[in-house]
Amino acid sequence: MDKCIFCLISNNQVESKKLFNNQFCFIIEDIAPKAPIHLLIIPHKHILRISDYDDIGRILASMFDVATNYAKDIGIVDDGYRLIINQGENSGQEVPHLHLHLLAGRKLLGMG
Ligand code: 5GP
Ligand code: ZN
Repeated sequence: MDKCIFCLISNNQVESKKLFNNQFCFIIEDIAPKAPIHLLIIPHKHILRISDYDDIGRILASMFDVATNYAKDIGIVDDGYRLIINQGENSGQEVPHLHLHLLAGRKLLGMG
């Protein structure tokens, strides 16, 4: 997708430091962090709606694998962290390219 910011970062057309990168996905810091640690786990493939994919379980499982392994690597497992995926307008999704938020570093209250 030409104008999708996460596709542009994936293709290195927009600079953003990748904390992790493999053939499937990459991790960057959120540009407007909502917690001391706020990371985005982003598949390279431009996926808009998870409900459109028959094999989405495999894709999401891979994203959660990457997120939990990275959480172990940076030592936040004992204190805890939150993983969130927004989908569609009512969720407040801003970037229409599938991504998993990882939030940590403070007590996260509520679900809003
Ligand atoms: P959403 O609301 O779509 O689930 O989350 C999109 C997230 O992407 C937001 O938290 C927003 O701050 C972040 N974001 C938007 N544009 C950029 C960008 O260019 N670089 C980075 N690192 N994060 C971005
Ligand atoms: Zn995209």
